[in-house]
Amino acid sequence: MSFFDRLSQLNIEATCKSLESISEEDVLRTLQKSTFTLADLPTLISKAATRHIEKMAQKAHTITKQRFGNTMQLFIPMYLSNLCFNKCTYCGFSVEHKYPRTTLTETEILAEAKLIQDKGFQHLLLLTGEAQGVVDVEYISKAVSQVKPLFASIGIEIQPLNEAEYTQMIEAGADSLTLYQETYHQGAYAQYHLAGKKKNFKHRLDAAEAGGRAGFYRINIGALLGLYEWQYEAIALANHLSYMQKKYWKSKYSISFPRIQKMIGQFNPKYIISNSEFVQLICAFRLIFPDIGITLSTRESAELRDQLIPLGITTMSAESKTEPGGYSGKTAEKQFETSDNRSLDEIKTLLIKKGYDPVLKDWH
Ligand code: SF4
Repeated sequence: MSFFDRLSQLNIEATCKSLESISEEDVLRTLQKSTFTLADLPTLISKAATRHIEKMAQKAHTITKQRFGNTMQLFIPMYLSNLCFNKCTYCGFSVEHKYPRTTLTETEILAEAKLIQDKGFQHLLLLTGEAQGVVDVEYISKAVSQVKPLFASIGIEIQPLNEAEYTQMIEAGADSLTLYQETYHQGAYAQYHLAGKKKNFKHRLDAAEAGGRAGFYRINIGALLGLYEWQYEAIALANHLSYMQKKYWKSKYSISFPRIQKMIGQFNPKYIISNSEFVQLICAFRLIFPDIGITLSTRESAELRDQLIPLGITTMSAESKTEPGGYSGKTAEKQFETSDNRSLDEIKTLLIKKGYDPVLKDWH
């Protein structure tokens, strides 16, 4: 059974409704446990648990220290193209926005990658829009093999591919796959993805499994918070993660909860998640999944990122530009605005001050 089939059987709406009946006594009883399971998630993300976030945070901090020590992995994103044929209402690259699109040439890719390498980064995440015939499998795999000699780890965050295409990416030098479902709620998904191949909810969900079969070393999944109720996304994501861990057990897993940020055009997220709910969510995942990586992007403000560091975060991006050629000073439209614009050196200094070891390379 695929996770798509499993998802329709989960009845997450009913679980979300039942969150209202969870009491503070239930929360306190759960928080006395030393290990947590998927069955504890509703309690940990319930409204009743909001009064006990401090306790959750302490436990999350202890678990993270035990499992990951004082390390914080740092990476940088690099956009190859802002050309996209999909219409996603929340994205600055959506096809409906009329501006000149930029796709990096081989020379520009190498120049951009060298600038990033000179900054000291060793883990690179390559991203693109989805544009068949231009930013296709050939283009992306060529870009991967071109930058591979400069970095210890190459991740890709691109359109969903099939198993053979992912294998081609791995052979080109990619070791990590990032693929967010955006929202796990199929009805909401249809409202935000109006045209193009990305309209197909199942195709996107199946692709994470294709990545598992292809054998990526790391797989990073998640939901874009703001598109639907965060508790719904949390339950779906936790089940997806658990399913992937059991079925494609050779891969290492991480999760991320990017929150929608400003971009070109007008998009006002209907489902706002507050900072304290965001903390609650991160802590809940750390308690239930002690060994997974949790990635925090520069979408969040410097102030909030600093506060979140001890709570379970294991990987952070730094100095991020969300436009193709952004590090080389090229003028191109961004996918979204970042909030934390500190340099790698500033982030490293902050981490050291907080007692963390900034890790630029943990894999070769
Ligand atoms: S979210 Fe991805 S697929 Fe959708 S418009 Fe943006 S870049 Fe294209």
